[in-house]
Amino acid sequence: MAPNGRTMTTAKDPDAPFWRRKAMKEMTREEWESLCDGCGRCCLNKLQEEGTDRTYYTDVSCKLLDGQSCRCSDYENRSAKVKDCVTLTTRNINRIVWLPPTCAYRLIADGKDLYWWHPLVSGDPDTVHQAGVSVRGKVGASEIDVPDRDLEDHIVSWPLKWPKGAKEKASPSKKV
Ligand code: SF4
Ligand code: SF4
Repeated sequence: MAPNGRTMTTAKDPDAPFWRRKAMKEMTREEWESLCDGCGRCCLNKLQEEGTDRTYYTDVSCKLLDGQSCRCSDYENRSAKVKDCVTLTTRNINRIVWLPPTCAYRLIADGKDLYWWHPLVSGDPDTVHQAGVSVRGKVGASEIDVPDRDLEDHIVSWPLKWPKGAKEKASPSKKV
């Protein structure tokens, strides 16, 4: 069991939601896409330290990220428009070391469960913002306005951290 006690059981309960019941490679495309919580963290520019695989996040967003919805403004054409946009697949998910700890793909690949604020659990796309997991209100600039040489000035640590309360088993405001 993981220290936070959120490791998923492997029981094949037919009534369990798909992310608990299915292996990632068994998910339909629709199920796979719905795993994205819409946080937008992975759409921030990142810097990789030379000679290591250490990644630093910045608060500079991809030019296609909508800072309010925290979604890609042209998801269908993203690969054509942004050369280094990475499409997550079951084949590369375990090789991508820079995914935020809150990312649903990372959680499920690590055998963990989704948290209360994930839209698939809450039924509400706003809870990812309410929990402080998304980038809403935290994007410093768009890459359109920041030359590469200035990216180091925008390094931030929060995209690789858990916001307070996000690891609770339920919404803190719903506790009795
Ligand atoms: S970090 Fe993960 S959950 Fe968040 S937007 Fe990126 S792919 Fe989706
Ligand atoms: S193209 Fe869209 S999905 Fe890809 S990094 Fe940019 S905002 Fe995110």
